[in-house]
Amino acid sequence: MNVLFVFAHPERRSLNGALLDVAIETLEAAGHTVQVSDLYALGWKAQADRADFPGLDPDAPLNVAAASGAAFAAGTLTADVQAEHEKLRWADTVILQFPLWWFTMPAILKGWVDRVYAYGFAYGVGEHSSTRWGDRYGEGSMAGKRAMLIVTTGGWQEHYSGRGINGPMEDVLFPINHGILYYPGFDVLPPYVAHRTNRLDAAGFEALASQLRERMRTLDTTAPIPYRRQNGGDYLIPSMELRPDLEPGATGFGVHREKAGG
Ligand code: FAD
Repeated sequence: MNVLFVFAHPERRSLNGALLDVAIETLEAAGHTVQVSDLYALGWKAQADRADFPGLDPDAPLNVAAASGAAFAAGTLTADVQAEHEKLRWADTVILQFPLWWFTMPAILKGWVDRVYAYGFAYGVGEHSSTRWGDRYGEGSMAGKRAMLIVTTGGWQEHYSGRGINGPMEDVLFPINHGILYYPGFDVLPPYVAHRTNRLDAAGFEALASQLRERMRTLDTTAPIPYRRQNGGDYLIPSMELRPDLEPGATGFGVHREKAGG
């Protein structure tokens, strides 16, 4: 299996860096091939702007989605973005690894998504009709590939529990898991989350490393999160609301996961 890590930590000698080493070592020992996009080491440009579209008329107003679609179709996206496209095409599994910063990914990784997810590549794919709303949420360019998050937090597991003050981790990560990974078609595995990591002793690190080794060993067999497919009949088109007969009265992120028994 080909595994791509997109790694977003400014310090390679960090806890995140050490966990990345553990993950790579485990995967390679099992015969998998690994590539890493270390975004800080690459000097990744985080902001999407006019410089991303060298073919754009300098006098034309910038519409990012339109410019992105035109540049993708013409093969004129910048070389750094095209290199990430090649890695994504190569990968069977993509892992985004980052410390939780202000309840989400560091800006450099968000910038990777903004720039690499070109129109026509990751969104704006497929036909819109009365029965389909494009190829997304379970369908799309990344269909057949797996993805997962490796995340470290300062907050405790309890702080991210169902009634924890930070909100449930499943909800905190929903915009990334569902909005960024499931949207272009990845099967999204449950995340690996290391909580309360700011003061860690050797035993604490070994416990985290051992859990991560197990997740890496089972990368190709772990069941994905059972998000509902957009075009599978569960949603009304074009409102894209869950059918009223499914989970009647329920709202929120959780309704987009299929429950056992339908
Ligand atoms: P490091 O700081 O590198 O290390 C953490 C601990 O692990 C240290 O004790 C270190 O000694 C130990 N360690 C490192 N490497 C090893 C090793 N090889 N072997 C053994 N021990 C090791 N947290 C939240 O929960 N929610 C937030 O919204 C949030 N927002 C943040 C925003 C910002 C801007 C910042 C800077 C932090 C925020 N945090 C938040 C905390 C953050 O998530 C954690 O600090 C981070 O996840 C820790 O990961 P790290 O790789 O940076 O750890």
